[in-house]
Amino acid sequence: MQVQQHALPSPSPGTRRELVSLHYGQPGQGTKVYIQASLHADELPGMLTAWHLRRQLDLLEAQGRIQGEIVLVPMANPIGLSQWWLQSHLGRFESLSGENFNRHYPAFIEAAARAAEARLGDDPVRNVQVLRASLKTEIQAAPADTELKALRKTLMLLACDADVVLDLHCDAQALVHLYTETPCWPECEPLAAYLGSAVTLLAMDSGDNPFDEACSQPWWKWKQLFGDRFPIPQACLSVTVELRGQQDVHHDLASKDAQAILDFLSFRGVISGEAPPAPAPVGDARPLAGCMPVQSPVAGVLTFVREVGETVHEGEVLAHVIDPITAAVTELKSPVDGLFFARDTLRLVTAGAKVAKVAGREALRTGKLLGAR
Ligand SMILES: [Zn+2]
Repeated sequence: MQVQQHALPSPSPGTRRELVSLHYGQPGQGTKVYIQASLHADELPGMLTAWHLRRQLDLLEAQGRIQGEIVLVPMANPIGLSQWWLQSHLGRFESLSGENFNRHYPAFIEAAARAAEARLGDDPVRNVQVLRASLKTEIQAAPADTELKALRKTLMLLACDADVVLDLHCDAQALVHLYTETPCWPECEPLAAYLGSAVTLLAMDSGDNPFDEACSQPWWKWKQLFGDRFPIPQACLSVTVELRGQQDVHHDLASKDAQAILDFLSFRGVISGEAPPAPAPVGDARPLAGCMPVQSPVAGVLTFVREVGETVHEGEVLAHVIDPITAAVTELKSPVDGLFFARDTLRLVTAGAKVAKVAGREALRTGKLLGAR
């Protein structure tokens, strides 16, 4: 394993941070896998899972069982990891700009296509190589004049030529679930089974370029752009893996999740030896546009009356919001039939806050599907 340090520009005098990536196997040989943990720096289950992954990968490398290249970024956000406010850790938004760390990844789809076009042909494998190189050149050339932009650029440069990208996050309180773009679903399905994912939320360009889509999107957009002229496969499976909730930082869960990822990598042939058969899937794929927020119209004390993991029906009460002054109780109801798979940890809500999510089967929402949060 090789350790690489990537210096980020200093945001203020006397302060300097770096990103660290761990490199297993041989670059440029076979399948490339990129895994990063805790891009939202206050989502720690992925960081513990990365620690378990690292121990296993060290053993596998010593046994000569890594067939391709695996890049592991065990802590993807040194900026967010350093943001504290009065004993509270704030890792989702950069405190300087207010931007979400998992939005606004650089997209150079058209520029890379233009630069590559003259070298594309009938061979899809060759086209993938040409387009990957072109995309990397564009990202490399783009200016990054802030620490946040430099972090995004560094992460993209490490991931943009990977066949498989896993971005390890978590929700507030939740079941294991995945986000991926619709064209990735056939390749994602075995991963969902190995991880025991309760639901996979599918979209195409959900808006604002989160990291996973910045990696997978070029391929289906290039396919659309070039039409019948050149064969362009979906050459990157990119998935946001939500490892339950923020408090679910336990060795038993993390070692199980790490093993599930390694089993998937065996299935993909990146680790030699027979892959254990994927367990029967526990969840399915549903449209991200059908993942409906449960919103509180009033402020107050929030108490849930249903648990994550329950199948609920439209109109069923999921939570109460209590006004301690008037004693009024506001019922928060499920907007659709679906899987109640995630909810907030805060129990004091502000008026208009979204406090839970129910994954329905019908695409009901339009516009940007992820929101700033
Ligand atoms: Zn996250």
